[in-house]
Amino acid sequence: MLTFQQLLPITGGSLVQQAQDMPVTHLLTDSRKLSQPAGTLFLAIRGRHNDGHQYLKQLYRQGVRQFVVEAAQGLEKLLQEANILQVHSSLEALQAVAAWHRSQFHVPVLGITGSNGKTIVKEWLAQLLSPDEMVVKSPRSYNSQIGVPLSVWQLAPHHTWGILEAGISQTGEMQKLQRIIHPTLGLITNLGSAHDEGFASRQEKVNEKLQLFKQVELLFYCSDQELVHEAVQTKEIKTFTWSRKRPADVSITSSKISGHHTIVSYTYREERHSLAIPFTDEASVENALHCLAVLLYRRLSLTDIQDRLDRLQPVAMRLEMKEAINGCYLIDDTYNNDLAGLSIALDLLASQPGQGRRTLILSDLLESGMAEDKLYAEVASLAKGHNVERLIGIGPTIQAHAASFSGECAFFPTTSDFLKHFKSEQFRNELVLVKGARVFGFEKIVQAFQQKVHGTVLEVNLDALVHNLNYYRSKLAPGTKLMVMVKAFAYGSGSFEVANLLQFHRADYLAVAYVDEGVSLRERGITLPIMVMNPSPDSFTKLHQYNLEPEIYSLEQLQEFLSTAQPEAAHRIHLKLDTGMHRLGFTDEDLTSLFRLLKEHPQVRVVSAFSHLAGADEALHNDFSQQQIATFRRLAAEVEAQLGYPVLKHILNSAGIVRFPDHQLDMVRLGIGLYGVEATGSEQEALQPVSTLKTTISQIKSIRKGETVGYSRKGIADTDKTIATIAIGYADGYDRRFSNGVGEVIVNEQRAPIIGNVCMDMCMVDITGIAAKAGDEVVVFGPQLTLVELASRIGTIPYELLTNVSTRVKRVFFAE
Ligand SMILES: *Cc1c(COP(=O)(O)O)cnc(C)c1O
Repeated sequence: MLTFQQLLPITGGSLVQQAQDMPVTHLLTDSRKLSQPAGTLFLAIRGRHNDGHQYLKQLYRQGVRQFVVEAAQGLEKLLQEANILQVHSSLEALQAVAAWHRSQFHVPVLGITGSNGKTIVKEWLAQLLSPDEMVVKSPRSYNSQIGVPLSVWQLAPHHTWGILEAGISQTGEMQKLQRIIHPTLGLITNLGSAHDEGFASRQEKVNEKLQLFKQVELLFYCSDQELVHEAVQTKEIKTFTWSRKRPADVSITSSKISGHHTIVSYTYREERHSLAIPFTDEASVENALHCLAVLLYRRLSLTDIQDRLDRLQPVAMRLEMKEAINGCYLIDDTYNNDLAGLSIALDLLASQPGQGRRTLILSDLLESGMAEDKLYAEVASLAKGHNVERLIGIGPTIQAHAASFSGECAFFPTTSDFLKHFKSEQFRNELVLVKGARVFGFEKIVQAFQQKVHGTVLEVNLDALVHNLNYYRSKLAPGTKLMVMVKAFAYGSGSFEVANLLQFHRADYLAVAYVDEGVSLRERGITLPIMVMNPSPDSFTKLHQYNLEPEIYSLEQLQEFLSTAQPEAAHRIHLKLDTGMHRLGFTDEDLTSLFRLLKEHPQVRVVSAFSHLAGADEALHNDFSQQQIATFRRLAAEVEAQLGYPVLKHILNSAGIVRFPDHQLDMVRLGIGLYGVEATGSEQEALQPVSTLKTTISQIKSIRKGETVGYSRKGIADTDKTIATIAIGYADGYDRRFSNGVGEVIVNEQRAPIIGNVCMDMCMVDITGIAAKAGDEVVVFGPQLTLVELASRIGTIPYELLTNVSTRVKRVFFAE
């Protein structure tokens, strides 16, 4: 076991203060994820936009007593009873600790990298090997410079195999990961375009990736990957290859789809075999073949391989969050149910604000390899550390360990026992995490909790939101603040959930259009400062009550605001300056009176002055935008001079951030870019699509040539056709302008045009030639059918399509 004292030689750091030597059992880099203060070592890492040193005092108060820091000045006083070690780089110290930990174990460790599929191959291999091995694997896609050390830290004496994932985005990174993972075996899935921008060329990228394998005994890969193959040839690495084209250890001779399987024939050691892979899509088959190579190397018999492949589960990578009965909020995580996965899901549960109590519904944990007593004691301590107030355990093993748990608990031997006793009134206004091994069929529990909905949902990818947020952040000069627009139901994506994510990721400010929007965010626990852009005079009382900050844009409005303001209280306001948009805002002529009013009311504090660009998205208006910026700089300087104190100045929206990097000033206001649309069009590739609108087929019909479809008989069949009626109409926000072939949807991967007029709750699509049945999923927009394309078809902008999705369409949030 590692103790604090040992950290000195391992990290090369210097001791600032030692209260007493103690064991290090948990590594923490994110202050929000603290669960067990005793034994936790916090490493204060400086990121581009965040600095772990800011949280030292708070963590000390929460009971953490061991710290690794880069800056130690004054800490002896602040953290009197703590052990403190100072290092040159806390990140490198974390990596050194992980590398040391890894060196204590002598088990096979498979390192996986590649552009796509590495998480799935990792999860599948863990499933496939689990009958014989105790596998430790990276939780989810913990594959970064911080994620890899945290993954390696999980290695424990009972493990007999490791499968660890490594992901990089620029040169120099893999070497570090190699030292931490120290793989004895390697696997590279494939090489795509992800992160190309971090490398001079694809060759450079592949060479960088291969750094992971410089000490492996064997590398598994598909030699049809030309770039990978060429690069591997130049290295002295022993390989195990599979290929459809060239001689290889496993030569695939044919593969054909039959029902729900792909039958693959191959030659291995001069013998021909064939295998049924229980998937038909190309990516899954490729991933399964990588796994096959590893299983053959492990000398599993063909019957064992087939048997295990048959039981392979598609990996539910998603962790979904959704509204449920009686004001409950459900986190649905069936990804896996090992301790690491539980810990991540609990982090998410704990990070949700709000007053509701927290309930965990958990099945037996399978295949942990730990002694059961120890395992459930650990589960109980994790639950407690994450403020779980009620635990519902399902399964014979967790029930047998009921005594490990304190607080409100209930146990049931099976899922159906639980459902038999389930009464919806027992759950009210609470957060419920549902986490179970697949065999427990927890989807039935999820269904019991869900409100009845019609089949149309807007899926919001929280990871994509975070990706986009970070993309815009990466463009900001250090110190520039970020305000994010969550007006109009967060551009249709769900105000509370998006705001909560932004609060978690430490945006500086939120903005909404109306006071009601701000109130509902406050009521659900959002504490970030919120600017309200269009507060009506009758809502000023609420504004004060909920600590919301108004945009003030005219003298009359300011006067009305002042009449409701309490003389003693401090009021924070934001001044809108009109520099050419001519919507809301003060102009030159108003300023004298404005300054006089403000001076008469010193209890009103101007937090910021801002303006809005009218044409930032179009190069055509560059000169005008520059002119607006110059006017704004002049007016804002005057505001500051007159007030005699500094105010935050901001003018850039999403397009402005891309186009005018020199004018970020003190803050920028991010809107549509967060939601995945790059308004100038020039950097669309860098963003990830956030929302997918999906519905289902209600009915399928065959109609004859000459018959018509829908209202006004507009959809005329020019040949015999197959028509599907889908459950979305203009009342859901599916624009009527998509009628009569203007719009298309995706049915089973193929595009199908709208036929006839879009109705209120439904519309019809022409699916002639597409295999489909009632109940099949239909994508209305999403990564394959973009908002940009659809908007241009009906002469509007993506903003309108997004914000039009009706609130009766249920939002489902997921993270991978
Ligand atoms: C909506 C809005 C934004 C964000 O605009 P995007 O084009 O979505 O980035 C910024 N500022 C103001 C004043 C807004 O109303």
